[in-house]
Amino acid sequence: MTYKPTPIDEIAKIHARLCATFASGKTLPFEYRRAQLLGLARMMQENVDALLGALHSDFGKHKFESNMPEIGVIIKSSITAANSVEEWMKPDKPQVEEWRSSYNTTVHKVPKGTVVNISPWNYPIILSFNPFVGIIAAGCTGVLKPSEYSPAVSALLAELFPKYLDPDAYAVINGSEFETTHMLEFKWDHIFLTGSPRVGRIVATAAAKNLTPVTLELGGKSPAFVDAGHTDLEIAARRILWGRTQNSGQVCVAPDYVLVPRTHQDALVSAFQKAYDSFWPHPKGPLDEKSELAHIIHSRAQTRLQNLISGTKGTIVMGGRSEGKRLEPTVVKDVKLDDVLMDAEIFGPILPIIPVDDINEAIRIICDRPIPLVVYVFTENEVTTDLLLRRTRSGQLVVNDVFQQVAIHEMPFNGCGESGYGSYLGKYSFDAFTHLRGSINVPLSMEPVLASRYPPYTEEAYYS
Ligand code: NAD
Repeated sequence: MTYKPTPIDEIAKIHARLCATFASGKTLPFEYRRAQLLGLARMMQENVDALLGALHSDFGKHKFESNMPEIGVIIKSSITAANSVEEWMKPDKPQVEEWRSSYNTTVHKVPKGTVVNISPWNYPIILSFNPFVGIIAAGCTGVLKPSEYSPAVSALLAELFPKYLDPDAYAVINGSEFETTHMLEFKWDHIFLTGSPRVGRIVATAAAKNLTPVTLELGGKSPAFVDAGHTDLEIAARRILWGRTQNSGQVCVAPDYVLVPRTHQDALVSAFQKAYDSFWPHPKGPLDEKSELAHIIHSRAQTRLQNLISGTKGTIVMGGRSEGKRLEPTVVKDVKLDDVLMDAEIFGPILPIIPVDDINEAIRIICDRPIPLVVYVFTENEVTTDLLLRRTRSGQLVVNDVFQQVAIHEMPFNGCGESGYGSYLGKYSFDAFTHLRGSINVPLSMEPVLASRYPPYTEEAYYS
């Protein structure tokens, strides 16, 4: 199976086919949506080996890092949506003022139409399908545009889609900037992008031409504040280092930099060292074949990360080496705010530590930068958590762990400011692709009550 961009003249045909299917009403019935969601679950279940093989080809990482976090999650979220969609679709009947109670005021949950989901390469299954579950559940027709940088997965998805999902309603468009730019020239009813703030601006600009609503799930530099006097440094270090090195740090919600009171920086470094040695006990450390670290996605990214390591003015206390497509997890202490490591989202296994005077300095640093996807805090002190909740902004705030927020589909996942807008996961994915269409039916019998609104206007009517 080889990766092939979708021929450019196919894109217009796919758009026309999906719009015609939506207009036909085929995707509206609950039974149809449920069957397609179960088809998606079957696509994952029956192709676990092929999907794991494609993920291994694109990333080279251990299957433990791919199976449950990617494939298992989608099996669960599509089955949950299949079982919940009938309830989600039910119209709301809001309570209204007594005198309008005969209006049959109803909020219908109607699909937005024919939509697009543009996904990135770093978690190519969950970031393609968690939004797609919402597309199907909402009754939309839709395109998935996976990334050109995870070619094995993208090629496999193009092959599997028509075998498990209705090809009249759902399609994969493969390609890079050229194909995607062409795709964005068509009028879609919603565009959902998970990607970089740079591409977020391009997509939002293209969507504005047609007033198309957009959801942007973007990235950024998520801080982790370690409240050293009020936490267990060893647990904090293990959780942060694990989070920074999953998928070799190529994770949007990874802790990007650590803020710690300067009096505790060295104790935290010792705790990181202990975690590091226990994670990669092999003779060559993390670069040993047995570690099965994920590849850095392409040589451009590898060069960028190596340049960050050679350019930092901080002190490298762990790692720093690279071999082929792999980069050793690297911890750097005494990093200053004007360091190269603080310029942009790192998106690799490098963890800068910035010593601060106190929590107020940490908060100032967080607030002086673009709003991140997540603020992490490691503390058992509620005052610390409360201060961060009230005085910083982010998509989410997570206390004492990393990543678990994306597994809780009962709360929304989203960015804020530079890290994006719009929410999804679970029912929120259904909501993202649903228009809330209000309707009322004003009974003719209300005419006597309404009669006073008609001209000619009188003083009595004005004061009544
Ligand atoms: P990217 O923005 O380069 O690409 C994302 C998608 O946009 C890909 O499918 C790509 O083909 C497409 N694209 C590229 N150029 C385009 C253009 N000119 N017009 C339209 N589409 C275009 O991002 P990436 O490198 O694939 O992923 C890394 C970024 O994604 C990081 O910033 C990361 O933080 C972010 N991310 C965010 C989340 C989240 O949930 N918020 C999750 C994963 C990754």
